[in-house]
Amino acid sequence: MQEKGSISIHTENIFPIIKKFLYSDNEIFLRELVSNAVDAVQKVKRLSSLGQYNGAIGNPMVSVDFDKEARTITISDNGIGMTAEEIKKYINQIAFSGAEEFVEKFKDAKDAHELIGKFGLGFYSAFMVADQVEIQTLSYQDGAAPARWICDGSTEFEISEGNRTERGTSIILHVNADSEEFLDKYKLQGILEKYCRFLPIPIKFGTKTEYDYESEAIEDAEEVTDETASEEKKKTGPKEIEVDNIINNTTPIWTKSPTELKDEDYLAFYRELYPMSEDPLFWIHLNVDYPFTLTGVLYFPKVKNDFELQRNKIKLFSRQVFITDEVKDIVPDFLMLLHGVLDSPDIPLNVSRSFLQADSNVKKINSHISKKVADKLAELFKNDRKSYEEKWADIGMFVKYGMISEEKFYDRAKDFALLTNTKSEHFTLTEYSEKIAPIQTDKDGTVVYLYTTDPAKQDSFIQSANRKSYDVLMMNSPIDSHFIHAIERKLEKTNLKRVDADVIEKLIHKDEKIESILSEDQTASVKNIFEQAISKPNMKVHVEAMSPDELPVTVTMDEFMRRMKDMAAMGGGGMGFYGSIPDSYNVSVNSNHKLVSRILNAETEEQSRLAKQAFDLAMLSQGMLTGADLTEFVNRSVSLI
Ligand code: ADP
Repeated sequence: MQEKGSISIHTENIFPIIKKFLYSDNEIFLRELVSNAVDAVQKVKRLSSLGQYNGAIGNPMVSVDFDKEARTITISDNGIGMTAEEIKKYINQIAFSGAEEFVEKFKDAKDAHELIGKFGLGFYSAFMVADQVEIQTLSYQDGAAPARWICDGSTEFEISEGNRTERGTSIILHVNADSEEFLDKYKLQGILEKYCRFLPIPIKFGTKTEYDYESEAIEDAEEVTDETASEEKKKTGPKEIEVDNIINNTTPIWTKSPTELKDEDYLAFYRELYPMSEDPLFWIHLNVDYPFTLTGVLYFPKVKNDFELQRNKIKLFSRQVFITDEVKDIVPDFLMLLHGVLDSPDIPLNVSRSFLQADSNVKKINSHISKKVADKLAELFKNDRKSYEEKWADIGMFVKYGMISEEKFYDRAKDFALLTNTKSEHFTLTEYSEKIAPIQTDKDGTVVYLYTTDPAKQDSFIQSANRKSYDVLMMNSPIDSHFIHAIERKLEKTNLKRVDADVIEKLIHKDEKIESILSEDQTASVKNIFEQAISKPNMKVHVEAMSPDELPVTVTMDEFMRRMKDMAAMGGGGMGFYGSIPDSYNVSVNSNHKLVSRILNAETEEQSRLAKQAFDLAMLSQGMLTGADLTEFVNRSVSLI
């Protein structure tokens, strides 16, 4: 037996859904109601300036109050107000007439924000925290009567004559049992500071009944010494005072023109946003009208090691209402460490993840920011190279990251990206190539850039390079291994090699061949002596004719092999294979070194001892000698002395 039917959807379902769906983010009710109030005030100002309203504007103001006893939160404004007709039109219709459509569609909503945004439910977010919402309002229109609307979250509402005598609107929330946390000064203040700190109309935050705990505490202390005073005090009870303060800065710097602002203003604003931070390196004032509207100030902070802590420091606003500090998608990933504010009316208040990813304005904003940052860096480089170089340690991270992750940014940045050598000299990519090409070009015409990741550990190799007048670059920040790949891919006929990737003669392979003082037989026997003495499967012995000044034995790891291992260690995708093969090294024995001749001429037992000693010294110089090998080396050294 089969029965067919449709699930009926009733409009009564709407509030439970709103409440449930939005519960996790319920503090935004305040943002929604305060933004409505601000809009209402701005509307009346606009009407007045257009000559369509001739009454007095008064002091434009929105106030937020709460009454713990009465369990209410009230948001009042002296804005445009509403007539009873308008309440019916703007407040009732939206939710009630669209309810079925809403219930039908909410199933597809990705998150609460999308829901509110799609259905213009800003006002109704009040029901997340209130079981009764009351509107008292008086329209700006001539002869308008005050109106009152009250609704308990069902589909029933009541409109009657109101009691407001001044133009504007009060929204009175009768806070529900689950939301008592909002009847608290610090809680409300915290929410206001988060969302409303830069709203364009002054927001006054006060409490109707606040006890003066501080003077109470002082008097409590006196109680011990002065019985009578405390008797007096008990009669009057704790002092009730009214506390008001304006919680917002109505004209934050991003709303001003850059020409009005001095460095000091930008720094002061930075300190206002991030009170505990060091001053930023520099900043960029964004001011775009077309094809999208975007204002903002982005600061380059001094980069600290803890990158994660510094992410998500950019605040996103829409007409000065705070939206979020998750600006992923709007800001290019490589600039996520920047600080500051962005404001775009093209981004809706209730912005959702899926919206951001799909929106074409967001993509445009993203590439605009990337371009502006590149322009600013180019300008700093051009105008004051010295100070740019001083900041490079901090800026470099952004620039390198950008060059790695964005082709377009690479092309913009290649003229102001700097390479730094072990002598702390800075060069642009072109300057560097021109500097080293005459000395560091190998027999195939490839220019070889040498670099060190750890100048202390790789010192003997750096010294060998310097003896040949080779230059060595510093590549010691975590991002450099990726940066190396990026520039190698871009620069023609250029290779980068870590300074310990091979013995100096082969690091940059030139045509000049050094003659070996050993015969072929002697070379073979040196190889054999060392192979026997070392006897490690991952150490491959080569006998090479090098300058007699070079060390008798050098242990190196091939550049390609090492990069693969580094990548595997960093968890690079698909590199598991390289991570599982053991380290393999090249042991280069310098056939022209005096010690090697001596080993060749020594007795068998002595040969092995000296070869081991020379090998251990090479390992030691690279910090690779540990454990039993190190103990054996120490013992052997003692006996040799
Ligand atoms: P939205 O703000 O997205 O239009 P809301 O549900 O928040 O949706 O508000 C619906 C409408 O109610 C507003 O567009 C406005 O016309 C009116 N309204 C809400 N709050 C106020 C207020 N404080 N003063 C005057 N009108 C208001």
